Amino acid sequence: MTFKELQLHKTILRAVAELGYNSPTAVQVKTIPVVLEGFDVISSAQTGTGKTAAFALPILQKLLKNQDVAKRRKIIRAIVISPTRELAEQINQDFKAYAKYTNLRTTVVYGGTAIEPQIDRIKKGIDILIATPGRLLDLYKREKVNLSYIETLVIDEADLMLDMGFINDVNKIVKITRLQKQILLFSATMPQKVIDLTTSVLQEPITIKIAATSSAAKNVKQQLYYVPKRKKMELCLHLLRKLTSKKANSSKNNILIFRRTKFGVDKLEKTLKRNGYQVVSFHGDKTQNARQEALNKFKNNEVNILIATDVASRGIDITDLDIVINFDMPNIPETYVHRIGRTGRAGKSGNAYSLCSRDEKSYVKSIQNLLNKAIPVETEHPYPLEAKPDDKPKKRTGSKYKKGRKSTASKKKKKRWY
Ligand code: AMP
Repeated sequence: MTFKELQLHKTILRAVAELGYNSPTAVQVKTIPVVLEGFDVISSAQTGTGKTAAFALPILQKLLKNQDVAKRRKIIRAIVISPTRELAEQINQDFKAYAKYTNLRTTVVYGGTAIEPQIDRIKKGIDILIATPGRLLDLYKREKVNLSYIETLVIDEADLMLDMGFINDVNKIVKITRLQKQILLFSATMPQKVIDLTTSVLQEPITIKIAATSSAAKNVKQQLYYVPKRKKMELCLHLLRKLTSKKANSSKNNILIFRRTKFGVDKLEKTLKRNGYQVVSFHGDKTQNARQEALNKFKNNEVNILIATDVASRGIDITDLDIVINFDMPNIPETYVHRIGRTGRAGKSGNAYSLCSRDEKSYVKSIQNLLNKAIPVETEHPYPLEAKPDDKPKKRTGSKYKKGRKSTASKKKKKRWY
């Protein structure tokens, strides 16, 4: 399948070709025609599958009819709501790149930064708005955005959005936008609350499933380390000693380390810095500036280790990762796939190291169920997880031939001293 066969306009095809996209990805092949036809869509595609273009390209194509309206008279006709600023920024950049040879204009708005410049940009006239939910509603209350002409609404990373407590905001946005609109919902996982949302707001949607499991894990060498919880830090340092160098100007692997909590991220950052590593971190409590600064340092190779929570790292486009370390095992199996899928992209090989303590063993089980295969275990390391007394293999009760050889009376008499 080629992009041309997807009936996209030549201005869009030109931009896509310039970006070096040779052929559409699976989610693009499945989604683009359906969006062009005007259907509502539920898609389980994750970041890394090309899902942004899957909704951006047909949206641009549909809005081409309005592209030549004078700038000041432009009306917002498509909205993408996104849970995090970084993701929103990324989507905006993608839209801009795809719209390069059209007269369609996009902008992005999110909280945590001054609202006035955002209002000015909207006033100048845009066709597509990318927004985080809270800031969008704020602008709406101030009557700075007109949402009465929205033709397509994209709810991106819906599961994350609901996890972050945006459910009411999302519902409000659905209500205040035009009644007859197309809704495209993307969600890496489909927990009940996302299903509830889809049934309440979408109309006869087409479901597009993209199996991330096989594709994401294909080029990634996975290794699992069983380790006592209190030894994880030491094991992490042990791995880093092997995987990277502290010396300036030496070629270093780019490493992303995942932790489950913000507290964990901070703690690990301090320890690694104390041990002489060049580290930045990324979590939801950091200001927009601090996050951007961290991201830039990592992208510009000023530092080679980034520590992040899942929420903070979702949607940020970090390519060229050599290694992913799961310091904590994720409790949602899809998150594992999502994390390790950040390495081994674009035909390159990647490595994923996972540190699993006793209390996380059940997570490994569900991950392996999802992957449909076992993650290879690395036993050669200095901090192995000792088997608990009740983990030890059960004592043999003796062979069936010997059974009953001694009388119960004799067994009772035999008090073992050891
Ligand atoms: P996304 O899943 O939207 O975050 O996209 C992941 C990455 O794949 C981005 O860096 C895109 O620029 C890139 N990408 C999207 N579509 C294609 C395609 N058809 N061919 C090659 N790369 C693509």
